[in-house]
Amino acid sequence: MSDTLKNSIATGSNALSYLESVDGEIYGFMSEELDRQRRTLQLIASENFASPAVLAMTGSALTNKYAEGYPQRRYYGGNQIIDAVEEIARSRAKELFKADHVNVQPHSGSSANLAVYQALLNPGDTVLAMRLDQGGHLTHGAPASVTGKMYNFQPYGLTPRSPENGERIDFDYLRALAKSSHPKLIVAGATAYPREIDPLMFKEIADEVGALLMFDSAHPMGLIAAGVHASPIELADVVTFTTHKTLRGPRGGAILCKEPFAKKIDSAVFPGLQGGPLEHVIAAKAVAFKEAQTQNFARYGAQIKENASVLGETLIAEGFRLVSNGTDNHLVLVDLRDFDSDLDGKTAQEVLDSVGITCNRNQIPDDPRKPLITSGLRLGTAAMTTAGMKVAQMRQVAKLIANTLRHRNDENELKLIKGEVAELCIEFDPYPSGDTWPGMDCFKG
Ligand SMILES: *Cc1c(COP(=O)(O)O)cnc(C)c1O
Repeated sequence: MSDTLKNSIATGSNALSYLESVDGEIYGFMSEELDRQRRTLQLIASENFASPAVLAMTGSALTNKYAEGYPQRRYYGGNQIIDAVEEIARSRAKELFKADHVNVQPHSGSSANLAVYQALLNPGDTVLAMRLDQGGHLTHGAPASVTGKMYNFQPYGLTPRSPENGERIDFDYLRALAKSSHPKLIVAGATAYPREIDPLMFKEIADEVGALLMFDSAHPMGLIAAGVHASPIELADVVTFTTHKTLRGPRGGAILCKEPFAKKIDSAVFPGLQGGPLEHVIAAKAVAFKEAQTQNFARYGAQIKENASVLGETLIAEGFRLVSNGTDNHLVLVDLRDFDSDLDGKTAQEVLDSVGITCNRNQIPDDPRKPLITSGLRLGTAAMTTAGMKVAQMRQVAKLIANTLRHRNDENELKLIKGEVAELCIEFDPYPSGDTWPGMDCFKG
């Protein structure tokens, strides 16, 4: 990596060499992790490569400032500049997503969801959300999550598997459940669902039963920003999202809402759940929102989708079944059973890891195996698309995955595959030396 890039990541001109001298251990791990990210394929659907500008802000001196409260209403002095930073983050988010109000302070997607529940619900209230084992998130009422303990979450799921339109959100079931359970809130959104989620269907059902609608767009927010997925902003009362998944910003969360909920949401975040905001991360969010406003990013979003679609088609040609038979977002959910009934998700993940292909095992609908074993894999294209990969590489990656799993007991074959993966990663380096960055440069007009 070039010195300019290294320096920009650490901000201060000598920050990294200073780190190396005071803490060689952590410096070593940081370098190793950076190498791992650059030298293996990153196919985890919730990950991405943030730009050097975003990295620079998260490593910046803005981390030093205490700024409890909101712009113009802080509990500490010296916040004139921080106010300007948070204001610019807010105005860019509002412009990008055409929202009435935004809160950019949530430390993560989970905190954003908690804040919305805290703002809109009382303990014990009924909420409908997607089943965890069919693609929902822990904060959608999992028994192990505080959300499942505090509120009465009722799950909806997917339609049964079928050759055409199976394994889609079961809106008939959702409507019936809404009518019988009188929820205060309906949550749309998922963490492992390969299809575009139609906000209008949710809005109609919410209106029929007088429920509020929260759209958790943690995963597809980059696709929404790029204009390749329908925006839920007009229809949902509240939209939560993470800034680090397809949106490609720093690790963090945010909430968009209609004006009548603004005050409640803001007080639920602070002082309800959090203390001092991470202003260095908020600065990085502002940078990411600016990047997401560009034509480059719109092309990036379209490429993510095209890449996922080609990755999925090639996997099908190699003998895999995909949950819902395809994808229209950034991820595919692979059902391994048709390919090889003896192969489970855990084994597949581990052997792929051994050749430098990083992904995660995932439950598939009605998975016969346990959650820690599973029969599926979740693969996403957001990160490798940032590194510049297009459809030709997606075909190659799908074949590498199939060959790895087919020859999983053949050391020689695995060695050859590992070599091919390494070569591909050298060609598509997310942080190459020089002053250009593929995440922006390869999507120019
Ligand atoms: C990732 C995700 C979250 C939580 O984000 P964290 O930043 O990991 O807390 C919430 N909801 C959904 C649907 C997600 O996919």
